[in-house]
Amino acid sequence: MEKKQQLYSGKAKSVYLTDDADKLILVYRNDTSAFDGEKLEQLDRKGKVNNKFNGFIMQYLEHHGVKTHFEQCLSDQMSLVKKLEMIPVECVVRNIAAGSLCRRLGVQEGIELVPPTFEFFLKNDALHDPMINEYHILSFGWASKSEIDAMKDMTFRVNDILQKRFLDIDLLLVDFKLEFGRYHGELLLGDEFTPDGCRLWDVQTRKKMDKDRFRQGLGGVIEAYEEVAYRLGVDID
Ligand code: ADP
Repeated sequence: MEKKQQLYSGKAKSVYLTDDADKLILVYRNDTSAFDGEKLEQLDRKGKVNNKFNGFIMQYLEHHGVKTHFEQCLSDQMSLVKKLEMIPVECVVRNIAAGSLCRRLGVQEGIELVPPTFEFFLKNDALHDPMINEYHILSFGWASKSEIDAMKDMTFRVNDILQKRFLDIDLLLVDFKLEFGRYHGELLLGDEFTPDGCRLWDVQTRKKMDKDRFRQGLGGVIEAYEEVAYRLGVDID
């Protein structure tokens, strides 16, 4: 599959058209950003680890009945996906309090959330991805009621599947973000699932194994991503 014209370049990936109007190529770059792009660094091997990591997770989810845009990894940093009409909303499930939830509600990091909580955010860097509710999504026409319900169902389903999978390798799935899009009338999981968009803590040591290492300047960012990939059995080389 040939890479054609660039459609979009985001903070971590570049998106290219292909000779198939229904398919895109995503190029995972080494760019690592936080705080809406204010902190930006190039981290060696990140594009490759995230591309392979995402391919593994998307295939695992497909295997467990979640429909995704993923087709195949084309090279170290490139994947072929179905071209979606993206819904400009981020779906977040949290199993343990961390990050913006703690800042917003003044709760302590590490509190277990039973049942897990769910949040919608508007995908808009200039506005710092504000939290929104279902009424905003409906009133502004970002998605229909049935799409909202499907996004919530699928996000909780992904939580059930991946919480178990990560626990098997001694990792707590603290929280994660998903994006969805439309493909010929069908709602599919899009974008990526990588340590850039989730929190993973080691069960025993509580060591952070995700992008919080970058946000908080803890070092060993890619080494942590590689450790998670190794435990999962992702073939990086
Ligand atoms: P951001 O836009 O948040 O900076 P990225 O750098 O990861 O994020 O850019 C990837 C962009 O591609 C995102 O805007 C994402 O919504 C979009 N995208 C992901 N998967 C698809 C897809 N299958 N079809 C169309 N757009 C997609």
